[in-house]
Order: sequence, then C-alpha cells, then structure tokens
Amino acid sequence: MYDFVVVGVGPAGARFARRASEVGYDVLALEKGEVGTPLACSGHVSTDIWEFVPDAARERLFQNRVFGARFHVGGPDSHSYPFYKDEEISNVIDRVGLDRTLADCAREAGADVREGHTVTAVEEHRDRVVVTASVADGGTTQFEARMVAGADGPVSRVRREVGLPEPAEKLHGVLAFTDEADHSDFVDVHLTAPRFFAWRIPRGDAGVEYGLAAPPGKEVQELFDRLTAAYDVETDRFCSGAIPIGPPDSVTTRRVFLLGDAASQTKPFTGGGILYGMTAADRAVATIDPRTPSSLADYERAWRDELASEIRLGHLVRRAYSLPEPVQHLGLRSLSGEIGVHMDRPSSFFSPSHLRTLVKR
Ligand SMILES: Cc1cc2nc3c(=O)[nH]c(=O)nc-3n(C[C@H](O)[C@H](O)[C@H](O)COP(=O)(O)OP(=O)(O)OC[C@H]3O[C@@H](n4cnc5c(N)ncnc54)[C@H](O)[C@@H]3O)c2cc1C
Repeated sequence: MYDFVVVGVGPAGARFARRASEVGYDVLALEKGEVGTPLACSGHVSTDIWEFVPDAARERLFQNRVFGARFHVGGPDSHSYPFYKDEEISNVIDRVGLDRTLADCAREAGADVREGHTVTAVEEHRDRVVVTASVADGGTTQFEARMVAGADGPVSRVRREVGLPEPAEKLHGVLAFTDEADHSDFVDVHLTAPRFFAWRIPRGDAGVEYGLAAPPGKEVQELFDRLTAAYDVETDRFCSGAIPIGPPDSVTTRRVFLLGDAASQTKPFTGGGILYGMTAADRAVATIDPRTPSSLADYERAWRDELASEIRLGHLVRRAYSLPEPVQHLGLRSLSGEIGVHMDRPSSFFSPSHLRTLVKR
C-alpha cells in the first residue's frame, strides 16, 4: 500500500509528490495524459516561482520579465493607466516546460510518476483508499493508499468521487498566440470582459499571447474575437480552460484531500493558481501524516492560515472589475503609478514598502 496516491501531475500534484517523497513517504502520482498537456495557462507568475524549480531549469523555462501592467477600461486604443515597479514584478514562463520540470523533480525525489493513467473512481474505506485508473494502452488498474491527494485540476474527478463541494464559481479562460517576438516590459489588462478581464502578454521570443476569462457562455468566444480584432491580429494555438474561484468550506474527507485548482486555491482577481497550489502542497507535506487521518484537519487549517485572507482580499480587488466605467477611471487614475505590492499577496497593498512608494509619488 502506498502512503499517498496523488491524482494529477500539474504544479500542485508534482510539488506534493516531490516534497512527500523527499521526507520519505512512498508516493504514486497518476497523470491522465502527458504531463503539461494540453496547455490552458499563461504561465505569468511572480518571481517566487524560482523557489520551486531547480536553478538549472531557469534559463530553459524563462520567456520574459514583466515590470508592470497597463490597465485599460476599454480596448487597446483607450487611455491606459500604468502600475509598475522599478524591478521585475513577474516572469512569463514556459508552462508546459514547468510541469515537466516539476514532474522530473518528483521522479528524482523517488515518486513513481505514471502518465496515461486516468483516475475514474476513488473509494474511501476506514483504513485505506482504493483508486481505480483506466490505462491509456487499455484496461483498468487499482491502487491502494493510506491517503489520496486530489490534485486533478478545476474539474476534479476526485472531488466529485468523494462528494467534496464544487467551487462557488468557475470562469472560462481562453488564450491564443501570435508569433512575433516581443520582449517588452508591460502586460496589458482590459476591463472589457464581464466580471474579469482580457489581456495581452509579451512572451519574448515565444510570441505574444492574447486571452481573457469571464463567466462561461458563448459570449467568451465573441469577446475573444473582439479583442484580437481590436489588436488587428490573427492568433493560433487556441487554448481553453476553467478557472475555479473559491475557496469551498472543506477540501478534506477522512483520507482524501484536495490541492491546487481542485481546492480552488487560486487568486480571485487574476485566476492565477500555480503558486498558491504549490504553497498549499508544501503546507500539506508539513502537516499530513498518512497514518493519522486527523492530521487532515491540520492541513485545512494550515493552508487557510497561509492563503485564505489573501483570497478574501483578492475577491475585493475583483469587485473593482464590475464598477461603473467612470468609477473605474477615477480609481485607476488615483492608484496608478509606481507600486510596492506583491502580485500574489493583495495584503501587500498595506505593506510598508507599498506605503513608502505611495508617499514617494
Ligand atoms: C486561460 C488560463 C490562464 C491562466 N493563466 C495563469 C497564469 O498566468 N498564472 C497562474 O499562476 N495561473 C494561471 N492559470 C491557472 C493555472 O493554470 C492553475 O491554477 C494551475 O494549473 C493549477 O495547478 P493544479 O496542479 O492544481 O492543476 P492543473 O494544472 O490543472 O493540473 C491537474 C492535472 O491533473 C490531471 N488530471 C485531471 N483529471 C485527472 C484524472 N481523472 N486522472 C489523472 N489525472 C487527471 C490533468 O491532466 C492535469 O495535468 C490560468 C488558467 C487558465 C484557464
């Protein structure tokens, strides 16, 4: 019997598999397809990302550095309000490469990572959990574990199998690319999508990304077409995915716990979940003992202590996307300029570094 079966080898699952193996647990990680595919993510992350990957991978994964964002209430021709730092705020990285790198780290730490295994059932017993997976080359197979980590993304099968609550909301995110190199320093954010936003991200030699997220519906495609028409570009490699917004009241049962998007560990004001999911994975390794089911309560407390107030503040920031346009102009005009905030931590808006920056203006 394994200590942990991890379902899903995205950032959250791979990070948990790596760290749990490093502390000596026997870990099996199952990925339904090939790690990293299909792509449904911008890979726009704070520079904290480099704490989670080996130094040797940095050059391979890095695409562009970003110093700020230009906010627009309308399209590309509308007035823009810049928010920036004099140092890099974030990086744009190769997201497929990131997942592969994190999975390699898990393998090197001793986890048994198997691709082509789609988990179809999770049965929880008093003393163990039985996981059934269908295998890409045919047939099904079963595994037993003391505990199961559901790190299987926004539309989590594990979550459904064990009856944990669904996210309060799932946004629909879409993106596509053009090929021209763009090493510029700013992303563009357009408050033109209902209750969220559209974006343009310069990705260095990897081209330019155009995308948006909004509540699901046919309007998402229309809004995306409008965005690319306004920029007068033809995009290819179209990708689409769900962004869960939460968090739910519980992400644990007796022997099963959720991580990452499966647990809605995302930023409500950007949809970003790579760093929150890996942070929660580290909290899980620090708190969960697979032989002690009550340790899952410690995990619930630990990840919420770390992320819940940031998520709560993130909801407040997101409310601004739905304010009337004149109020948005007013707010952006008064807040824009140099900032001292950390992109993953809205609480840093109240930090001494941000307040010092405001005073300097
Ligand atoms: C359009 C868009 C843009 C985004 N941009 C950003 C961004 O710029 N920055 C950022 O931080 N976040 C971004 N996100 C969010 C980010 O992609 C997620 O938060 C992140 O991928 C969550 O990681 P995860 O490991 O929890 O889940 P995932 O990355 O979704 O990984 C889950 C894994 O589980 C596998 N799986 C699913 N079901 C099963 C099953 N039944 N059996 C076995 N395996 C299974 C999947 O194949 C997948 O590999 C974006 C999301 C979208 C939709």
